[in-house]
Amino acid sequence: MTRPVRVRFAPSPTGPLHIGGVRTALYNYLFARRHGGKMILRIEDTDSQRFVPGAEAYIIESLKWCGIEIDEGVEQGGPHAPYRQSERREIYLKYALQLVENGWAYYAFDTADELNTLRKEYESRGETFAYNAAVREQLATSLVLPADEVRARIDRGDQWVIRFKMPANEIVKMHDLIRGDVEVNTSTLDDKVLYKSADALPTYHLANIVDDHLMEISHVIRGEEWLPSLPLHYLLYRAFGWEDTQPEFAHLPLLLKPTGGGKLSKRDGDKMGFPVFPLFWKSPTGETAHGYREDGYFPEAFINMLALLGWNPGTEQEIFSMQELIDNFSLERVSKSGARFQPDKAKWFNAQYMHHKSDAELAALYQPILRAHGIEVSDERAGRAAGIMKERATFITDLWDLTSFFFIAPTEYEEKQLRKYWKGENPAHLREVREVLASIDDFSLENTERIVHGWIEEKGYPMGQIMNTLRLALVGAGKGPGMYDVTSFIGKEETLRRIDTLLEKVKPVE
Ligand code: GLU
Repeated sequence: MTRPVRVRFAPSPTGPLHIGGVRTALYNYLFARRHGGKMILRIEDTDSQRFVPGAEAYIIESLKWCGIEIDEGVEQGGPHAPYRQSERREIYLKYALQLVENGWAYYAFDTADELNTLRKEYESRGETFAYNAAVREQLATSLVLPADEVRARIDRGDQWVIRFKMPANEIVKMHDLIRGDVEVNTSTLDDKVLYKSADALPTYHLANIVDDHLMEISHVIRGEEWLPSLPLHYLLYRAFGWEDTQPEFAHLPLLLKPTGGGKLSKRDGDKMGFPVFPLFWKSPTGETAHGYREDGYFPEAFINMLALLGWNPGTEQEIFSMQELIDNFSLERVSKSGARFQPDKAKWFNAQYMHHKSDAELAALYQPILRAHGIEVSDERAGRAAGIMKERATFITDLWDLTSFFFIAPTEYEEKQLRKYWKGENPAHLREVREVLASIDDFSLENTERIVHGWIEEKGYPMGQIMNTLRLALVGAGKGPGMYDVTSFIGKEETLRRIDTLLEKVKPVE
């Protein structure tokens, strides 16, 4: 690659960023970093009809949460600023007019009503209307109207659009880095609108090509839904005479529903209880959607999962840090076929990252939850409790249920456990265990375990019964880690106090 790598993520702020969009941003970012290139964020907001307030801020915050760093963009600025298309509006008309001048585009004056009538007429004959080579010379365009009339219409303020003049019956040969060679006959394509006088704005196609050119984009990596636009984009590069610096293209496979058929949608998420957006979203009209962040996912786990939806490293490795993804990423290993989203796998990834977190990392994440429950403890204790139980947790929010007994003595006892263990000789044995525990000075896990176990064995008492009775006293339920994890965590005094509470307050069952 001789050309400096410059890629862009070019979302339209029409709503919250779908995880498919996050994956597109991620692959662009990995590709840029892998090749020492630049990652650009361009906001494509020329469609005023579909503009949604808050969507741009949402996109930016999502990328930040994911750790996808932008080199040039609306916040960072850069050599090609501005990076928001609505702020570049005066750039585009000149290019649209250039195409009219060199015969690659033309003015069209049809009103929306006229086009609707035409569409209906075609429909009534069982046909579909397309604005193309077959019809364009029968419509009100600069291809047929005399030049002075075209001028007059423009001058008196009639609304017009500039349309691309799609060549008739030509094979466009294209290359896609993922799909290989692709060919399309132009007779299947229509004359897309490039510019609209009504809002003095370009459409996506024109703005996108002009900006990719001006911003010196080397590779366009985007979703498969843009593949049908590729012939037009190739022809636009030709029409402008920019073929020499035309970017290379890579169209990424779709993210599919967990059931396989069709594109992953918000509805699938709602139905099956998983988010399809990175962050919680509230639309200006008050509709809300779940987000991975608020649902307790770690950004590293989310990114790791997304990276593997459509790209495979060629090895069995599944856990990748961002740096490892950068080091291993290549477009050659992106698959052509859609990648099926698996909600359980997302959870699995989160659990893996949970299990690998240090006590200190866990403490930082867990402290706010502890505080919300009124528990004030040192980071050391918060992290230690979380560390003991992390293997059983998928989310940080799971930790409270898993560890609350470390911080709060039981106030009631699980009925089932009481009935099972708080009877027979168990209460008497517990009284004896209490005395053994009371005699231990070094309450470390190993020492306590050695002494208590040794004593039970020596007495020939039933180990399981005694341990479960002790668990009832210390945890109040049949759950939790090894008993000596609990005793060493809560310490001697608290251990004895909890045992006494059970002995004193609860009558054994008959
Ligand atoms: N604005 C387009 C979108 O929203 C960008 C497509 C492209 O990357 O060319 O997806």
